[in-house]
Amino acid sequence: MILKQRTKPLPLKKLDAAIPRLSPQFPGLPKMKEDAKMQQQGYSGEIKVDYFLDNLAPMYTILQDIYLHENSKNFQIDSIVIANYSIAVVDTKHYKGTITFNTTLKQLTRSDGQIESGFEYPVTQIKNQTFHLQNWLNQRHLGHIPINCFVAIADPSTVIQAEGNQEEVGNYVAHAAEIPQRIMNADWQFGQKGATTLSDYQVGRTILGECGEFDMNLFKRYNMRPTDILPGVICPECGWRGMQRVHSGWCCRKCKCYSKDAHLTALNDYLLLVKRTITNTECMWFLGLKSRHAASRILKNSPLIYYPKNRSWRRR
Ligand SMILES: [Zn+2]
Repeated sequence: MILKQRTKPLPLKKLDAAIPRLSPQFPGLPKMKEDAKMQQQGYSGEIKVDYFLDNLAPMYTILQDIYLHENSKNFQIDSIVIANYSIAVVDTKHYKGTITFNTTLKQLTRSDGQIESGFEYPVTQIKNQTFHLQNWLNQRHLGHIPINCFVAIADPSTVIQAEGNQEEVGNYVAHAAEIPQRIMNADWQFGQKGATTLSDYQVGRTILGECGEFDMNLFKRYNMRPTDILPGVICPECGWRGMQRVHSGWCCRKCKCYSKDAHLTALNDYLLLVKRTITNTECMWFLGLKSRHAASRILKNSPLIYYPKNRSWRRR
């Protein structure tokens, strides 16, 4: 079963919410757009790999996007598959073109036909993640469980090349479609060697119980102030900020489109970017409402919950 399902990563959610709410002159904007693009590419690669790994769900326990704390360090793993005798750690790489692993220099280069760029060596990365997970399991008396690790190449059209020891690369790296078979084979071999059968669900619950969520402080990272986040309801059709309240919905002055619930995205943006709670006055300002009653009605009909002590609304 899939014990933990992947959702859009929190830093990407924050970037997507912040970018349309910044002035086009904001100095950090180009970097934020570039980072959002990179993170979106990583996320879509992970979803492509999930498509294949999900085939293992009827047999094994799967956890997607794991963030754990070990020895004053945090580490992140794209996917963990807990099989009958062993655990598989899978890291996803989403590159287009040709990628070359150099086993002597421990270096990865990618060429898209024109530009060649260098990246952190994925085999070293996955070995480090495995090392952290091994320590984490040791501290929870689960250190006897063998761990395999794989680098999944998300795009089937990516050409994988190796310079130096080809077999070494082949042991860790494969296209995503190959990975489930690799996991099954490696697990079967542990069974043949007489490894103990795991209570995969229990091990999964232990990991899930301590799993956190990777977050990023946008304000620190991009030198942003809370006042840089501009208010207004954003048009879902044309992206224009500042829709007007009409009857029981919103109207865009630019493209004339009508939306019943465009304010819900704006409320989410506020809670994600500005503060975890919102008062009636803050809601009036952020949605551009003139009446207190309209703000109250909107908040009462939203999925948010009222906390009388702070006279504010927040998520469940
Ligand atoms: Zn519009």
